[in-house]
Amino acid sequence: MRSRVCLGLVLLIALGSAFAMADDVPLPRPKPKPAAAEPAGPLPFDPAHPNEAAVPPGPSACELRLANIAVALSQFDIEGQGGCVAHDVVRLDAILMPDKTKVAVTPPATLRCEMAESVAGWIRDEVGPALGGLGSKLARIENFDSFSCRGRNRVFGAKLSEHGKANALDIRFFKLANGVMLTPTDMHADRPVREKLRESSCGRFKTVLGPGSDGYHEDHIHLDLAERRGGYKMCQWDVRVPPPPKPPAEAKKDDKNDGETDAATETPAAADVPLPRPRPVAGMNDEKPALRRKRL
Ligand SMILES: [Zn+2]
Repeated sequence: MRSRVCLGLVLLIALGSAFAMADDVPLPRPKPKPAAAEPAGPLPFDPAHPNEAAVPPGPSACELRLANIAVALSQFDIEGQGGCVAHDVVRLDAILMPDKTKVAVTPPATLRCEMAESVAGWIRDEVGPALGGLGSKLARIENFDSFSCRGRNRVFGAKLSEHGKANALDIRFFKLANGVMLTPTDMHADRPVREKLRESSCGRFKTVLGPGSDGYHEDHIHLDLAERRGGYKMCQWDVRVPPPPKPPAEAKKDDKNDGETDAATETPAAADVPLPRPRPVAGMNDEKPALRRKRL
């Protein structure tokens, strides 16, 4: 009997100790509830004021790279009417050249970051050096058109232009720090420079259109990064040269009525015919008013 009582006491003590130990073990803390996810819908966009939208949160990887070679500002994604959609959009204000100078983009261009990066790389690595022999540093490029929600060549109902995807830039001229301008479509501008610009732009961009392409690009160069099947690229830019001056004999013929001269009288008189006036120095043409032709 006594042994049973002792056994009961031992069990009670053991159970009591067990409960006491259980009370001492801290329970795991409840996991915090995950924060409610923010809606990831598209940010509002005002097509009338694409550059005035608030800055979206956080730069993209492209924008971080771009910050090393350009002055650019993040823009809202473009979700416009008419199928105009573009993501990772920036406003390109200037390109930072390797010598720390800035090349202004005037007016600032609204472009997809990848396109802005390609433009900045082209200006830094190829355009700047190509224009380096003209006596001064490159100071600015004229943005003839960047983002524009429209069809190709501004034709109603035409396929959406790459401009409508912020994926294209039109350039009309480059201006140096000393005021000298180079218009790449001007047949009197420095030909070797224009050849370099053509070659380098066609190597970097997916589409390059200039004089001789389709009649819409006689006064500016169109650049874009359009994706095509098989990686096909389009490079249509004739680097034109002025027609050769007419020989003096022909010039004299043109000055007189047909049939009034013959070979005997023509030859000695030819020496008196003034030669054509020399062309202006290549690349030194004055800025002309924009022709504002239709653009792609
Ligand atoms: Zn264009």
